[in-house]
Amino acid sequence: MIITQRKPMEDLFAMLEGVQKVALVGCGNCAAACQTGGENEVREMKALLESKGIEVVGTLVPEECCHKMLVKKELKALRDSGAQAILGMACGDGVQTVADNAEVPVYPANDTLFLGQIERVGIFHEYCRMCGDCVLGETGGICPVTRCAKGLVNGPCGGQKNGKCEVDPENDCAWILIYKRLEKLGQLHKLTGPVPDRDHDRMAHPRHINLRGKKV
Ligand code: SF4
Ligand code: SF4
Repeated sequence: MIITQRKPMEDLFAMLEGVQKVALVGCGNCAAACQTGGENEVREMKALLESKGIEVVGTLVPEECCHKMLVKKELKALRDSGAQAILGMACGDGVQTVADNAEVPVYPANDTLFLGQIERVGIFHEYCRMCGDCVLGETGGICPVTRCAKGLVNGPCGGQKNGKCEVDPENDCAWILIYKRLEKLGQLHKLTGPVPDRDHDRMAHPRHINLRGKKV
């Protein structure tokens, strides 16, 4: 799940300065779960903007705002709306997907934060940084790249105190968690062998995947 957070309203009004007619495009998937771009939030945003004198001439909440073909099709409904701008209430990927298919400026309502695990409704944790070279098989299923504040993959820095990270004592030290998990699994030997070099090229941006064997 891509985790997003609403930008401060003053930032939104600054982006929309001079815009009298706007359309809102949310996302029925991640942004809906984050309460930043689902049907409810789009409705609330419409009421808020209208209370400030900005006319909302159309709203859309595509099932997935990062789906190019889907968004392209749904945006046709706004073609004659008279919108001078679109406020994208999705993640950065979704906003760019809208911008790729819109004739007017598209502004982000949200900041895109991380790929998150959903603990329960409204509570998310960052567990994967999408590094492209996964080490979970060696670390008991706990990611040191993400959950260690220093991203250390060769072992702990030694600064932990009572199992908490020296960078932010609110967080558990990832390497203490890894040790305990491997101990429980009977795999502590995984901590004693050499650690394979990481392929940092896999984090070079932008990345693309084409399962169809042709250029996308
Ligand atoms: S090592 Fe961590 S950041 Fe990299 S893919 Fe695996 S879980 Fe994600
Ligand atoms: S205390 Fe643990 S989690 Fe924090 S930076 Fe050091 S090894 Fe990483």
